[in-house]
Amino acid sequence: MNTKKSKAVLLKQLYAPYIPCLSCPLALNTHHNFVCGYGNPNASLMLIGEAPGEQEDKKGLPFVGKSGQLLSKALECLGIDREKNVFITNSVKCRPQNNRKPTAEESTLYKHLFLLKEIEIIKPRVICTLGSTALESLLEKQVKITTVRGKQLNFDGIMLIPTYHPAYILRNPKEFSHWFSDLEKAYNLSKL
Ligand code: URA
Repeated sequence: MNTKKSKAVLLKQLYAPYIPCLSCPLALNTHHNFVCGYGNPNASLMLIGEAPGEQEDKKGLPFVGKSGQLLSKALECLGIDREKNVFITNSVKCRPQNNRKPTAEESTLYKHLFLLKEIEIIKPRVICTLGSTALESLLEKQVKITTVRGKQLNFDGIMLIPTYHPAYILRNPKEFSHWFSDLEKAYNLSKL
């Protein structure tokens, strides 16, 4: 049940009916791709972002645009291989029009359709949320990311380390060292 293949198959079964995705409030949007989670379904670290941007929408992969490139560099510096050591997904799987922030209703809908099921399949040791949208979706309350970042929280028995979204770091490079140390902490804890 917990073999590599079975987790991959379970994820495939979860996503398949939604490609193309016609059953959510974003379905009539101008997006192109339903962006599934990507990486190793057996990883003990799961990263959760907000929603696909333009590049992710075009390529059908999470975090491949500018903020994704920054994330990849940070992961690489930590010795984390995006394909092997981590599973990366988003709270919302389709690009909201004009890159707007997903509404709370959209996040909740996707949470129940996908995110909770992805977490149940992956069973990560540590979840690291990138930005406030993913964190608020899990906790179902508003949070101030500057206050909670880097703390060890709990989501349903799983350690949860919130940190900034890489797009925020692109706009506020002086926060890079905090962000990097949060990612490092999440990775180190996931290996224990
Ligand atoms: N921002 C996100 O939150 N997710 C992506 O996949 C890309 C940009």
